[in-house]
Amino acid sequence: MSACTPDLVIKAGTVLCQNGELCVSDVLLEGGRIKQIGVNLKGEAYIDGAGAYVLPGLIDTHTGGIGFIELETGALRDFAEAEAACGATTLYANVGSSPDHSARIMERHRRETNELADVPQIAGFRLELPYLARPGAATKDRLAPITPENTQLLLDAGGGHIKIWDISPELPGAAELIRGLSSRGIVCSICHTDATIAQARTAVEAGARLVTHMFDTFVLPEMTDPGVYPAGLVDYLLIEDRVTCGIIADGTHVHPLLVEKAFRCKTPRRVAFVTDATFASGLPPGEYTHPGTSDTFEVGERNQGRRRAGTGMLSGSALTPLDLFRNAVTLFGKDIATASQVCSTTAARVMGLNKGEIAIGRDADLIILDSDLELLYTIAAGTVLYEH
Ligand SMILES: [Zn+2]
Repeated sequence: MSACTPDLVIKAGTVLCQNGELCVSDVLLEGGRIKQIGVNLKGEAYIDGAGAYVLPGLIDTHTGGIGFIELETGALRDFAEAEAACGATTLYANVGSSPDHSARIMERHRRETNELADVPQIAGFRLELPYLARPGAATKDRLAPITPENTQLLLDAGGGHIKIWDISPELPGAAELIRGLSSRGIVCSICHTDATIAQARTAVEAGARLVTHMFDTFVLPEMTDPGVYPAGLVDYLLIEDRVTCGIIADGTHVHPLLVEKAFRCKTPRRVAFVTDATFASGLPPGEYTHPGTSDTFEVGERNQGRRRAGTGMLSGSALTPLDLFRNAVTLFGKDIATASQVCSTTAARVMGLNKGEIAIGRDADLIILDSDLELLYTIAAGTVLYEH
């Protein structure tokens, strides 16, 4: 990582502008913000952007590891550095364990990073567990009932850094909890659930604004009359404009046809690609042992699903944020602007960040990609974090 780069100008890059158009322009970064977009801009340092895409930095709202680093045991600093090499400028660190264990994990990360201040890429914690009705790949002993004691333990351990909280709407106390957390500015996400349409709607009325890895771990409606096509939870969430859907975009967790369905129902404004990454993120295909345990996992071709060896059960992905962006273009056939939207802009809007767009006054969080979508630079708050 280089030192802070003052008054940096990216020269003549193909810049994704706020209106969604690509235009050849200089971009001046000053004081951690985007200061100017135009021609012949002057600065103290320069990056040649000719022939390269200049895009908003990638934002991953759901990630728990990369390159043999797992957030349960690893350091946020190492995690963030590895993520910068994959284009991520903002990350929500996933914590997924029992209340006591999750509390210890968050307290350790806060202690090690001066309350996260030393790792500005980390925008906060995401608590995927313990308030789930369906464990998915997690073990049941990590789940817990919604109680004021559990909630307070986690809020205290998070020290104000919990920004996303996953909750199954059918759990007793879910709506009240969602109301309370939303009023604190925590974004509640509908997750791992067998909820009815009515229960999900109650959660949205209470303030839930995200859907966690849409389609994965959501109950399918039962067909009770062969002449009637059943509607269920997923159908409701697809047409509920108040929620944004996270999608694990590896082509394995969600069939490309369903990804396209989400694009058409939600529009890219309400689709946010996520990695749901694990320690296996970014590793080539193969079989790997989970750090600190004897569990083995298989990573498929093209960084697709990570499967628990033996059971074949999907358990997070091996995607990196850059894989998500490339998949949007190459696997799902989207243009650069749409890919950028679902890998950055949408998440920034849902989380209320001054990021996700190249516009004057926005945070100077950018990536520069060559015409083959290879990463050349990752820049966060005007500082070059990664250079190819
Ligand atoms: Zn999950």
